[in-house]
Amino acid sequence: MKRVSIFGSTGSIGENTVDLIARAPEEYHVVALTGGRNVDRLAEQAIALNAELAVTCFPELKQRLADRLSGTGIAVAAGEAALLEAAARPADWIMSAIVGAAGLQPGLVALEQGTTLALANKESLVCAGALLMETARTHGASILPVDSEHSAVAQALVGEEIADVERVIITASGGAFRDWPLERLPDATPEQASSHPNWDMGQRITVDSASMFNKALEVIETREYFGFSPAQIEVLVHPQSLVHALVGFNDGALMAHVGPPDMRHAIGYALHYPERRRLPVERLDLAKIGQLDFRAPCERRWPALRLAREVMGRGGLSGAAFNAAKEQALDAFLARQIRFTDMAAVVEEVLNAMDGDGALKCDRMRLDHVMETDHLARKCAAEAVLKIGTDA
Ligand code: NAD
Ligand code: MG
Repeated sequence: MKRVSIFGSTGSIGENTVDLIARAPEEYHVVALTGGRNVDRLAEQAIALNAELAVTCFPELKQRLADRLSGTGIAVAAGEAALLEAAARPADWIMSAIVGAAGLQPGLVALEQGTTLALANKESLVCAGALLMETARTHGASILPVDSEHSAVAQALVGEEIADVERVIITASGGAFRDWPLERLPDATPEQASSHPNWDMGQRITVDSASMFNKALEVIETREYFGFSPAQIEVLVHPQSLVHALVGFNDGALMAHVGPPDMRHAIGYALHYPERRRLPVERLDLAKIGQLDFRAPCERRWPALRLAREVMGRGGLSGAAFNAAKEQALDAFLARQIRFTDMAAVVEEVLNAMDGDGALKCDRMRLDHVMETDHLARKCAAEAVLKIGTDA
């Protein structure tokens, strides 16, 4: 039996992972499931999958979780230390699907046990790609990407030489405001930004899709995971979200990965890797679809893409600052303290301020430096939110 754990099991990626595992219960022993506020759902999942342990990151919810699981024999724990202990429990395959920088430390602890980490939490690669990849190497662990674009790139690279790759193109649907007139963008509300044309995802990544901060994170993720140079990585707007990525080789061939917008494909590919098993996803009828559209992204509409290039150019700890500032700016937008278009301004201000102070330099990445940068960037972003929010 394959021993598996799911971090962030109650989220959108988590639920899709639970769905795949619940279809073949005889194949899996579920070690740990972790979630946040939704402890009722976490308890349901733990019972359905007969997990060893259920953990909520909120200590104040431990009792409620324990009540829901009383008499089941499933162990209960809560808080940050409990999350890290759960990540250290031996498992053959661990899904990292917590949202935000909070996913970094559990991911590192999981890698230290030499396991296979299915990485949906792209923020950890953006914050600390060098550290994550080095930890995997040192402990003989592997990381499999669970972002649709990166899973697509990995699949297009099977049997190929990285040296033969000329370029990698990741696609973007363009999110909720792809076709809005630019002058309407400042007035976009959190509700409008929270609906995605093609994908059903958690709220934060959905808003990040509208602002293209999600794609900005993914460009950096592509660089950190595969090691391609910034100049090799392109973004292409593709409204249908059916072609997830294309890899261009030095003979001019482009290998495209085409599939329905269903994360169970990328999750299932990582779950069964290196095998390809049947997955419960829609089979595309291309004749019915008829047409696939592509266009270049407009950097005036989506300044986050330019910021991603700056981050890659600056290197060091700028990914950690970028992600933390982005998370704070997103919180401020959701709380209606700043406008939709102010998010990029907040992030840019943080990057400039911290780089000017020399705070983003680093020779060898260490976790404490990453955490300190994250902390500083959040403080700096809170100040920028106050300033920009008042100006607005
Ligand atoms: P979500 O908000 O639906 O779920 C997040 C999960 O993390 C929940 O279980 C929540 O309880 C838990 N969580 C939140 N804050 C936490 C904290 N501080 N500590 C511990 N646990 C916490 O998010 P999602 O859409 O499932 O995304 C999860 C990750 O996967 C993100 O990094 C996202 O960028 C990435 N991703 C998501 C999709 C998608 O289709 N949803 C696609 C590609 C990548
Ligand atoms: Mg993606």
